[in-house]
Amino acid sequence: MAGVGVAVPGLVDVPSGTVRYAPNLPWQDVPIADWLRRRLDLGTDVPVAVDNEANLAALAEFGSENDAASNLSNLVYLTGETGVGAGLVADGRLLRGADGFSGEIGHIPVDPSGSRCGCGQIGCLETRIGLMAAVRTAAPDLAGEALDPEDLAQALRERAESGDPQALSGLDEIGRWLGVGVSIVVNMLNPEKVVLGGYFATVAPYVVPTAMRELRNRAVAGEAAICRIAASAFGFTAAARGATSVIAEEVFRDPSRVPVDPDGPARSEDTA
Ligand SMILES: [Zn+2]
Repeated sequence: MAGVGVAVPGLVDVPSGTVRYAPNLPWQDVPIADWLRRRLDLGTDVPVAVDNEANLAALAEFGSENDAASNLSNLVYLTGETGVGAGLVADGRLLRGADGFSGEIGHIPVDPSGSRCGCGQIGCLETRIGLMAAVRTAAPDLAGEALDPEDLAQALRERAESGDPQALSGLDEIGRWLGVGVSIVVNMLNPEKVVLGGYFATVAPYVVPTAMRELRNRAVAGEAAICRIAASAFGFTAAARGATSVIAEEVFRDPSRVPVDPDGPARSEDTA
């Protein structure tokens, strides 16, 4: 095994591989790298990389932008599941902050008279645009259904495609609050692109136009700062792709990390 990459929806102490706080799980001070190392009986030479899912997704998106030679160096990735987080790339580097806890845009207070968030506070952005908020506003009959996030996202999209009035107005409302969130990151970081992941990507045609309108109203620098808001091509898999790239980088740095398979293909000198 070359390594294990873990994407976590919460605050992660990356050097120790410990989840400090994940309000929607809910986990506090979980040493997940140590646990996995023991559970999977991994040697100390096998890397176990644990990071915030938005950071890993941002790395995946940024890598694909570089592959496309788009010369983009400032990118914001927004996760869209039960929780909402941001992976921030500034000047070509992941912006982690002093302790690695940056990007918690889902917990920026936007609605003082709103509902309680998983973090315990009132009116966080997440309570307005998290997947559960979208289900409540666009398809309330699905609120009690035990569907996984991808199925819920698909159901929302199908209802919007069929012209369901509640789905359309609910997603328009999500788009408005999403625009509030995007305008915060645009005013703070001036990115060239905002990439929407998770369920946002699935319902993008029904939320992006409203979000762009909101952004145009709220971008302090005006038209010059208006950036693209685009759906991730990776959908729900962006964080896993980012985690894979972190492990691949470890292998490129030290190829001897990958154990030689004694039953593997014969080397050319063996067959010569
Ligand atoms: Zn919160």
